[in-house]
Amino acid sequence: MNFDVAAIREQFPILKRVIDGNPLIYLDNAATTQKPQCVIDALVDYYTTCNSNVHRGAHRLADEATRRFEGARDIVKEFINAPKREEVIWTTGTTEAINIVANGLSQLLSTGDEVIATGMDHHANLVTWQQACKASGAILKIVPVTDEGELDQAAYAEMLNERTRFVAFPHVSNALGTVNPVKAMTIKAKQFGAWVLVDGAQGAAHGWADVQDIGCDFYAFSGHKVYGPMGIGVLWGRASVLENWPVWRTGGEMIATVTLQDATWNVLPYRFEAGTPNVGDAIAMGEAIRWFSALDQVAVAAHEKALIDRATELAEAFEGLTIIGNAKDKIGVLSFVMDHGHPADIGFLLDRQGIAVRTGDHCAQPLMTRFNVPGTARASFAIYNTLEEVDALFVALKKVRTMLA
Ligand code: PMP
Repeated sequence: MNFDVAAIREQFPILKRVIDGNPLIYLDNAATTQKPQCVIDALVDYYTTCNSNVHRGAHRLADEATRRFEGARDIVKEFINAPKREEVIWTTGTTEAINIVANGLSQLLSTGDEVIATGMDHHANLVTWQQACKASGAILKIVPVTDEGELDQAAYAEMLNERTRFVAFPHVSNALGTVNPVKAMTIKAKQFGAWVLVDGAQGAAHGWADVQDIGCDFYAFSGHKVYGPMGIGVLWGRASVLENWPVWRTGGEMIATVTLQDATWNVLPYRFEAGTPNVGDAIAMGEAIRWFSALDQVAVAAHEKALIDRATELAEAFEGLTIIGNAKDKIGVLSFVMDHGHPADIGFLLDRQGIAVRTGDHCAQPLMTRFNVPGTARASFAIYNTLEEVDALFVALKKVRTMLA
């Protein structure tokens, strides 16, 4: 197996940080991953050598910036196995990608149409559909979550019918780590001709975003969760769907012709990229994906599985700790509560020991209500985490338990 975690860690300068005398143990990767030096360098190099506005310049810097920017689009295309490069739309992140789709959807739906989302969605993939349904008179249906933290597939199958126009679900739950059967769910939705959006914010980092294999119409993800920068992300949309989807922001770049009273729209992808794009971050996101894709993916998957398996094993043996979300297929996330202490206290006391986790509702309030918890403490893993770090989390949790008892 070709996976050297020490060599990978070496590439992440931030992992050398020391917090109150303790080596940083960064377990907040579902919120954002850290960036390898090559990604930081790509960003600095862009601003140092070829910062320029893209597409419209008649000079060397504009040419170089455009080549790098469009080259990054090609890297994303390969990463998600998109049939066409123009289907890759740069956005500020998953949230904006989903909002682009929701904006169009609200104009395409009418009273009585049905939309399906799920009880484990991030607010970005729920509130958007609520708003689209309110604006159009469509009905929003929600796939319930089982006690194990899986989507209730029987209920989902029952919900689908000829009025179903649109279905959205997460690839991987950011709050529970549940891996959803996105391909099977897409096939079911397609039997009724519904459009399907997969929220890939937590799926892309595992290299699973094969949009042709999944068969969806839209796939959304963020650069900052795949070892790239913040402020950049991707909406992938099937060309035949995107070409007819109502435009989102209007302005420069997204137009073909403009008169004083009217305008026509540019071709894909520019039709959805109004204004000056985030060139430097797109280039750095491309570098992050290039870097990640060059790793031995079988070894990466085995390492990620080892991390969640070890964490689950230790959590199950830990007195006074309850895991929230016990899906059979789970990756990257251990969400839990403890008998004594609010999740916020757990987070605070772990931070004192150099361990970064996230606490709260993880932008999934309905899911917290479903499990009857105020929130959880969430340890989430990336490829640079080690089994020793997982062990250290539980040593630290023992101290937390003593302090809170
Ligand atoms: N969906 C999921 C499943 C997420 O985990 C996140 C980020 N926590 C988002 C959507 C929103 O992503 P962003 O904040 O990068 O737009």
